[in-house]
Amino acid sequence: MSGNPPALLSVIVPCFNEEAVLPQTHAQLNTALGAIEALDFEIIYVDDGSRDATLDLLREIQNDDSRVRVIALSRNFGQQMAVSAGWAASLGDAVVVIDADLQDPPSVVAEMVAHWRDGADVAYGLRTERAGETRFKLWTARMFYRVFAKVSNIDAPIDAGDFRLLDRKVVDALLRMPERERFLRGMVAWAGFRQQAVPYQRAARYAGETKYPLGKMLRLAADAIFAYSMLPLRIAFLLGFLATSAAVLGTGYALVLWLFTDAWVTGWTALAIVILFMGGAQLMLIGVLGEYLGRTHAEVKRRPLYLVKERLGFPPTEQE
Ligand code: UDP
Ligand code: MG
Repeated sequence: MSGNPPALLSVIVPCFNEEAVLPQTHAQLNTALGAIEALDFEIIYVDDGSRDATLDLLREIQNDDSRVRVIALSRNFGQQMAVSAGWAASLGDAVVVIDADLQDPPSVVAEMVAHWRDGADVAYGLRTERAGETRFKLWTARMFYRVFAKVSNIDAPIDAGDFRLLDRKVVDALLRMPERERFLRGMVAWAGFRQQAVPYQRAARYAGETKYPLGKMLRLAADAIFAYSMLPLRIAFLLGFLATSAAVLGTGYALVLWLFTDAWVTGWTALAIVILFMGGAQLMLIGVLGEYLGRTHAEVKRRPLYLVKERLGFPPTEQE
């Protein structure tokens, strides 16, 4: 909750090859944050192993602005890890995560802060409109949020991304979650606390290209489903149950034919279909088991979630 002497807000910006937008992003963030009354802020840019001039740009920005901090990861670990690194380094009483491409309007942060001051622990951005996205992205995102809401065992808001404000106590709770299978929205939903929606219109990307090609999008969706749902495993039971029922019925049918008629079931087609179907279903479901097993294996290794190669602008006492 807000204290009376100016509270500190940490704003985390994950950046992967964002040289085209960063100067504009920083200017707009500074203006928007500066306009919020009685608030100190720090902006933490996390360079997620960019291969363009992002890190050099960030060094320059940091040089000119003492409220800027930079964490450079040792390679591309993905947005979810970059945000986690930002959380770990943040000192604020509240922490906001915002995309680097200005799709999340910096002006909405003021609204989030207002809700936080009114007692919300989580103020999450709710996308009412999304400009400048392909039809395919809109449709797949729509489908994903709805399927996830149905099959997951947590109550995550529909159409909410990672653009959100978290109270310090929520951030501390999240930092205690060591899992490497990171779907941050799921983790925040799991944490609970007082959650408040803040509707906003998602803008088009200011410049540059999306850093979420189809493959990365699918991986995030798979992480979400496998981390928060047992449905894929239950499908195995359901299919097995259906197959067994069909077999019992089929046996009864064959018995009746054999006992009471001269007809006998002929031909191999039905048999071949059943064998192929069951063989295929079993292989697929072994694949599902493998997926969970592989993920368990990755967790058990207990590797660090990400590695930091450089930190700039942090108070010396806070260095790890
Ligand atoms: N991002 C990142 N690491 C990645 C991919 C993306 O830090 O591996 C950042 C990216 O720089 C941006 C945010 O995550 O700030 C969202 O990415 P993007 O805008 O490309 O995704 P989209 O809005 O197209 O879904
Ligand atoms: Mg974007």
